[in-house]
Amino acid sequence: MKIRYCLLTLVFLIVGCTTVPMTGRHRLILSDEAQENAAGATSYGQYLSESKISKDKTNTALVKKVGKKIAAVSGCDYDWEFNLLENSEANAWCLSGGKVAVYTGILPYTKTEAGLATVMSHEIAHAIARHGAERSAQNTLLQYGLAIGGATLSNNPNRELILLGVNVAGNVGVILPYSRKHESEADYIGLLLMAKAGYDPNEAIKFWQRMASAASGSQGGLSDFLSTHPSDEKRIKDLREHLPEALQYYNKLK
Ligand SMILES: [Zn+2]
Repeated sequence: MKIRYCLLTLVFLIVGCTTVPMTGRHRLILSDEAQENAAGATSYGQYLSESKISKDKTNTALVKKVGKKIAAVSGCDYDWEFNLLENSEANAWCLSGGKVAVYTGILPYTKTEAGLATVMSHEIAHAIARHGAERSAQNTLLQYGLAIGGATLSNNPNRELILLGVNVAGNVGVILPYSRKHESEADYIGLLLMAKAGYDPNEAIKFWQRMASAASGSQGGLSDFLSTHPSDEKRIKDLREHLPEALQYYNKLK
């Protein structure tokens, strides 16, 4: 039994270990990218059919323009799509394979084209770094860890309690929507992407400052975006640290 688990672990590590583009971080992914992208396309179609696509021609054109510019420097040959959806939430997302949605509710905070580029490049960064797939690999390993734990603990009278503890710890540490690690990685990749696409990366800091002050002012409709995208001093401080690198790309284009 143990040998089988060891072999399986070895196979996971050999097959699944890849690196994140632009950061080179090693991570484990157990799914196939083509399948992830197909799933992304299916969910996107479903989501769009249930959503109200914005009739605002100016902002729709802006979303598509910014999206195309970022896609062009992403290094990913996806079947990209960009849509502006009528939704009061301050939110945006990008599914596997480059399927992007921006909600009209975030436009009061993006304010400018570069502000919009900040949001879209951050979301696109999550997709090209395949954060969703990494999260699901972690989930698989967690389940697998529980299976091993279950086997070794089978005679322990506190087995249920111990497994519950492992499960809770795993969920808190690993599986919550976009961990801190993924958020800061998307911030970093997003900052470089927007700069390469010709947007001043200084604008990213201004955007996150606007989000931070909106959060402290407790305005309605912001909670979802902020719960998965915490605006804090650390995020802005990290962005400032990466600014010189991003500015090199931006200044080269001028
Ligand atoms: Zn994010």
